[in-house]
Amino acid sequence: MINFTVGPVQMDKETRELGQNQIPYFRTPEFSTIMKENEKLLCSFFDAPENSRVVFMTGSGTASMEGGVMNFFTKDDKVLIVNGGSFGHRLVELCGIHGIPFTEIKLDYGTPLAQENLAKFENAGYTGFLVQLCETSTGVLYDMNLIGDFCQRNGIFLFVDAVSGFMADRFSMKEMHVNAAITGSQKALALPPSMSFTILDEKAIERCQKINPRSLYFNYPSYLKDGERGQTPFTPAVGTLLQLNQKLKRIEASGGIEHQNKLARERAEYFRNAIKDLPFKLFCAEKDSSNCVTALCPTKPGVNAHKIFEIIKDEYGIWICPNGGDMAEKVFRVGHIGSISKEEIDTLVDAFKDLVKRGIL
Ligand SMILES: *Cc1c(COP(=O)(O)O)cnc(C)c1O
Repeated sequence: MINFTVGPVQMDKETRELGQNQIPYFRTPEFSTIMKENEKLLCSFFDAPENSRVVFMTGSGTASMEGGVMNFFTKDDKVLIVNGGSFGHRLVELCGIHGIPFTEIKLDYGTPLAQENLAKFENAGYTGFLVQLCETSTGVLYDMNLIGDFCQRNGIFLFVDAVSGFMADRFSMKEMHVNAAITGSQKALALPPSMSFTILDEKAIERCQKINPRSLYFNYPSYLKDGERGQTPFTPAVGTLLQLNQKLKRIEASGGIEHQNKLARERAEYFRNAIKDLPFKLFCAEKDSSNCVTALCPTKPGVNAHKIFEIIKDEYGIWICPNGGDMAEKVFRVGHIGSISKEEIDTLVDAFKDLVKRGIL
């Protein structure tokens, strides 16, 4: 199978080989050294300010979305949430569950956030802002400079779900005035699912220490305390953390994060050019698109997007990424993260062409 989903994505050969080893015991100085290195490299790749720290959470990306909501906000906050797709909606659900007062900025799915969407919230007493970097369900890349400037001007704490956007799109905590940001192991880092990572600046560290949420597993102050000696409070996905270390070092040795951004952009552009004459409409305009993923609507009447996912899986041995909810029958996605070659993209495009020939698309 060739995998064009947005996670778990295709892993590098080096990552797979490392995954064959026994899992070592981890309460050791050797493992602590690796964890300190992971923390340093993640901070550097997020372009985090001095004295930033990382919380290593065993749990998928959603665990760190929930952990962020619990550790950075309380019922005394008043937060803005950008809801432009299913991951924005998840932030809304989380703030509802944890009793954080919020206002939704609801966008038509597939459209970007504009200055007009923020204007009425200037000087309106908001204390937090929650947003995705890339809304993976639609492929929209939000304008983080616009959002960061708004938050800085208004003294608002900015929490960014960069789970899918990290490595695919340009992201700088420093330049974009981001206080805390998350990513997950099975997206562009191309590791097995299991871990998610939160990068916290000094304000975020202060916030979670002050809030000190009533939770054992999601208590970030305890992660930060154990992290000082390169450890986690509970058993982490040790194997994934070793693969993370190897991957981060390989990224560092091969042109850093800018080079990763460039590779994702090249894959996205190559694919988008190759499908220009096929019967698809881009769900999100190219200028607003993330390099992580392309969301497509088949244009021929009666064509069901989920059915295309099934045929491509069963008859061509390729996974594209189906959409859920209201979009399930109209939209599917093609991911550009993970270890994907141009030849594999050609194979997918040929499969689409064959479906056109067969009258299915
Ligand atoms: C994948 C993803 C997540 C996390 O999903 P999990 O299934 O919990 O790993 C969160 N936010 C975004 C934007 C994502 O793409």
